[in-house]
Amino acid sequence: MPKALDIRIYGDDILRRKLKEAEPKDPYIKKFLPDLIYTMYLREGVGLAANQVGVDLRIFVMDIGWTQKDAKQNPRVLINPEILEREGEQIGEEGCISLPNIFANVLRDYKIRYKYTTPDGKEVEAEAEGYEAEVIQHEYDHLEGIVFTDRLTTLAKLRVKRKLKDLELRAKDGINIAVPSDFER
Ligand SMILES: [Zn+2]
Repeated sequence: MPKALDIRIYGDDILRRKLKEAEPKDPYIKKFLPDLIYTMYLREGVGLAANQVGVDLRIFVMDIGWTQKDAKQNPRVLINPEILEREGEQIGEEGCISLPNIFANVLRDYKIRYKYTTPDGKEVEAEAEGYEAEVIQHEYDHLEGIVFTDRLTTLAKLRVKRKLKDLELRAKDGINIAVPSDFER
């Protein structure tokens, strides 16, 4: 039975770390993945990176379709992903399980070519565009120690400054568990 993992909140050092390469065959990862996936659904996220639950490994899970009505859960696991090519631009509103109650428009590449390793150790190369590409870029950023508010315009950054400061204080107090209604996109 998978278990719910605690969410690390903005202000926690691990969200600022460039994460370590993961070894798909590592037995720890086999055990960790069901918990990561379970936690993503529990927090109603469409993506969740390993450092958001305190694990220093280049892994994220995603499922962009499941929040739509009647959609089945279809989680994807991306290990050691790399973005190979970027093309075009898009702006979409983003939020993050680690930054509860903060939403803002972020400029992203519209289309990407990327590669990753599956839990079976298979290397996959693929393309994504639109919302799927947005989610992959958001999650990939986590593996690099970047959060979406880093990518805001100066003005938009000013608007969320106070909320970020509050989160930092909460993180210092050791309160690092987001409420289930906090969305990740
Ligand atoms: Zn996030």
